[in-house]
Amino acid sequence: MFSKQLTQEEWQAYTRTLQKLHKVGRLGYWQMSLATGDVYWSEVVYEFLDVDPRDFTPSHEAFMSMVHPLDQAKVAKSRQEMLEVGFIDIKYRIIQPSGCIRWLHEIADNTSPDDPNILLGTLHDITAHKALEEKLRKQAITDDLTGVFNRRYFMKRLRQAFSHYLRSEQNAAVLLFDVDYFKAVNDTYGHAMGDQVLQQVCRLFTERFRETDIVGRLGGEEFAVLLFEVSSEDAVAIAEHIRQALAAHTFKTEAGSTFHISITCGVSSFAEDDPTEDSVLHRADKSLYLGKHHGRDQVVGEEQKRIE
Ligand code: GH3
Ligand code: MG
Ligand code: MG
Repeated sequence: MFSKQLTQEEWQAYTRTLQKLHKVGRLGYWQMSLATGDVYWSEVVYEFLDVDPRDFTPSHEAFMSMVHPLDQAKVAKSRQEMLEVGFIDIKYRIIQPSGCIRWLHEIADNTSPDDPNILLGTLHDITAHKALEEKLRKQAITDDLTGVFNRRYFMKRLRQAFSHYLRSEQNAAVLLFDVDYFKAVNDTYGHAMGDQVLQQVCRLFTERFRETDIVGRLGGEEFAVLLFEVSSEDAVAIAEHIRQALAAHTFKTEAGSTFHISITCGVSSFAEDDPTEDSVLHRADKSLYLGKHHGRDQVVGEEQKRIE
């Protein structure tokens, strides 16, 4: 790159330019001597960690103490890999002294051009990327209108729960809800009010179910809930509780009129002779159909179905 030997001034100017470029590109840079353990952090690294270079001595221990407890093992392992493999590419969280959590992307290697005893690493703050990633991940599994899980995610969790059941016999139950005469709600109060009803139904679901229960919108005005480790009787009782709570809920239109809705629910539990998770859902659907056929506004489980 350089055709002549650089003077000391030129080297200093070159170093200043590089430092400036690191700042412009928000690239943090560190180096550590394996011989002495001495650590150097560039200005940007201090900024990422939100510590003052004037009263902070950089060290491997100081850095590790700021790594998020959940990422400590991962980062410690990467340090070992760096020595063994010579290269690492890792993402982890650090906690700034204020308690603020930041995500860093570190790419480092131990192939310093001049001294094999020097480890070199670069750091990028990827907190904004991670936040966007998380937002997109949530969007991909959420129903836009109601905020509960979408059909695809519900089916995925049902599949996982069923294969877990086959291995461990840990039971689960499916509640399948369908709003009764929902078309009439749209026809009477308008589609926008219909949307609000679906949102309020889901709000009631999320208030009443546990955080570990999986509430999903299968489509239109049909919802499914996956409950873990409940007996068939308890699942029916839970569904009945929800049915009554919804029946007692008063919906209000913008014009001030009020109305009520009802739901019909089919309940099924995982069973030994279910070949796949689809058959569990299918049984819940058959119960739901029976409930619709016998006047709606009711919960139908396996027991009730046998009585029919
Ligand atoms: P049943 O008691 O037999 O379930 O009667 P129903 O009227 O609820 O059933 P049907 O399947 O005939 O009608 C469902 C209606 O739900 C028709 C459709 O326009 C409406 N719907 C589906 N998705 C939405 C939505 O996102 N918003 C609104 N407002 N309506 C929807
Ligand atoms: Mg309906
Ligand atoms: Mg329906």
